[in-house]
Amino acid sequence: MQPIELPLATADRVETLQALLDVRSTLPFTGYELSPWPGGRTEGLRRLTAFDVSAYARTRNLVGDASGVSLLGPYIRHGLITLSECRTVAMRKSGGNPPVKFLQELTWREYYQRVYAQLGDAIMHTNLESPKVELGNRPLPDDIRFGTTGLACMDENINELRETGYMYNHARMWVASYIIHHRKVAWQHGAQMFLQHLLDGDPASNSLGWQWIASTYSHKPYLFDQGNVQRFSDHCSRCSAARNGSCPFREYIDIPPVREYSKPLPMAQKSQSVAIVDDDERVPDLLWVHGDHIDIPANAVLTAYPNIPAVFILDTTLAASRKISLKRFGFLYESVSEAFQRHAGGGRIFIGDPVDVLSSLLDCKHIATTDTPAGRFHEIRNGVEGNGITVTCHTPPSFVPDSGPVPNRFMKWWKMVEDDVLTLQPRLLS
Ligand SMILES: Cc1cc2nc3c(=O)[nH]c(=O)nc-3n(C[C@H](O)[C@H](O)[C@H](O)COP(=O)(O)OP(=O)(O)OC[C@H]3O[C@@H](n4cnc5c(N)ncnc54)[C@H](O)[C@@H]3O)c2cc1C
Repeated sequence: MQPIELPLATADRVETLQALLDVRSTLPFTGYELSPWPGGRTEGLRRLTAFDVSAYARTRNLVGDASGVSLLGPYIRHGLITLSECRTVAMRKSGGNPPVKFLQELTWREYYQRVYAQLGDAIMHTNLESPKVELGNRPLPDDIRFGTTGLACMDENINELRETGYMYNHARMWVASYIIHHRKVAWQHGAQMFLQHLLDGDPASNSLGWQWIASTYSHKPYLFDQGNVQRFSDHCSRCSAARNGSCPFREYIDIPPVREYSKPLPMAQKSQSVAIVDDDERVPDLLWVHGDHIDIPANAVLTAYPNIPAVFILDTTLAASRKISLKRFGFLYESVSEAFQRHAGGGRIFIGDPVDVLSSLLDCKHIATTDTPAGRFHEIRNGVEGNGITVTCHTPPSFVPDSGPVPNRFMKWWKMVEDDVLTLQPRLLS
């Protein structure tokens, strides 16, 4: 496929959707709508300002409008706002008393990113440990895919995911547990469905979230019952299965344990190594922006080289393998456009093969970009370098100082970093 260039999106969402629909027939997208969640750093900052951190610990497990979660997931995942910015604002709002639960959840994200950096793309398809209960290997059935199981706690959350690109954390846990433990579907198929639709769809947080539910990255499987759904949502009030006594969650499901565990994957197994050049004095002639760090300050090269032109390429190979929804691409398109409109060097957006666009379409000899653990990123970088172009990788800003390889359980790592995460930073609070 020949690369296609898109004009930068404006604030007019009708025009933005039209620009995507105009090229949709040639592209591997699913769906025809934008998400009601607009992309862009401005929206991320607006949400961060509006977020009531004081209610978070008490209400974060609720599913639905009463939940006090931040709704920042997609803005953090795509580098529109950073974890450090979230921490600073949350600390300031709590008058300097660390809002521990919220900061711990931010740290989960950092932890999963570090596990990904250590183990690479294996986390997306390989069990990191042997399961502690018997797992199935079925494909994903259509009633789950389209939210027609007849169970309100499944269907309402799956339909919200399909319509908006968001699902509450507690609902992700219920849906994943149902798919894996009740329906005996391989966790990888469920994870793929989430990656297709979630605006915050992330190889690390998603795959490791699924492995945690499955018990291939935890001590036990995550299971729930109807009482749990009733306590944290009002789904059961609209559910015929709950009313007529056919709810499959009336009691905890009984799954045979597996007694023989094989050795877990070694945690220090690094998939890719990359030379990080943070103090390179040669000025690049092109900045390659990808979906992990779209805007300043997460994007270290947009920060370092405000006058150098930038490019973003929606990778058709990746989009096809993940069957990415138009909602997800629309979110990226709006977010990158906003970043490029602010970038003095300007920016262009393409859809196509990144190696082709970077090597042949744009006249450049030295590209600067930001490092990420994604295997596809390294494939593209190697392809571009193979065509005689230098690629330098800069480190994105870090949430906590590097403390070497992470252990295989979050709580062990939390003990190591909690002081850094919770330390008051008077300079930032003023
Ligand atoms: C099966 C499953 C799949 C998931 N897939 C993803 C995914 O693809 N991308 C993703 O960002 N998160 C994923 N999560 C984690 C979590 O559900 C989302 O980060 C959260 O729901 C985003 O909504 P929020 O911003 O309102 O969260 P809040 O509760 O307000 O949390 C604030 C931020 O902390 C981070 N965070 C919170 N909980 C977690 C967690 N358990 N793991 C990692 N980071 C966390 C996120 O960056 C989140 O935006 C998954 C969880 C499960 C159980």
